Amino acid sequence: MRLSISKIKQQPAATLRYQLTDEQLDPAAYGYSEFRFAAPLVFDGQATNRGGGLFEVTGSYQTSLQLICSRCLNTFTLPLSGEIKALYGSSPEEETEGELAVHSFSGDNIDLDELLLSEINFALPMQPLCKEDCRGLCPECGTDLNHGACSCAKEQIDPRWEKLAYFKFNGDE
Ligand SMILES: [Zn+2]
Ligand SMILES: [Zn+2]
Repeated sequence: MRLSISKIKQQPAATLRYQLTDEQLDPAAYGYSEFRFAAPLVFDGQATNRGGGLFEVTGSYQTSLQLICSRCLNTFTLPLSGEIKALYGSSPEEETEGELAVHSFSGDNIDLDELLLSEINFALPMQPLCKEDCRGLCPECGTDLNHGACSCAKEQIDPRWEKLAYFKFNGDE
């Protein structure tokens, strides 16, 4: 999504507000393969002319992602929202301003796609889970254990328990 800054480009300290929705953004086109959008990406924020060709963009984003559960491999959706704060400059000499990196832009539009995708990618859980207590797949037969037990568990008797069962049986006599 693009912020058109033509109205504030020549006015230091001026601010424009934006409420934008993007339904087309494709993370894979930017090299992000671990998530897809399950809902439009919504941005609510503002751009301020900081003078000297620098523009500060702040705001919040909101969307819903389609992820793959790391245990059962099913897809699930995860609502996600966050804040962004970034500086954009049209002169490539300045790379940082204080703590913030200066992203480059040219013309009258600031393209937020790369920034938003990298923020979202950073916010992803390391091991996405469809639910906290997802039981995953049986390592033997691949059955999704969330949908019920498979027969592997009954057939395999742990050798440690086999002896215990024997002793208990004798003790009952
Ligand atoms: Zn799962
Ligand atoms: Zn099994």
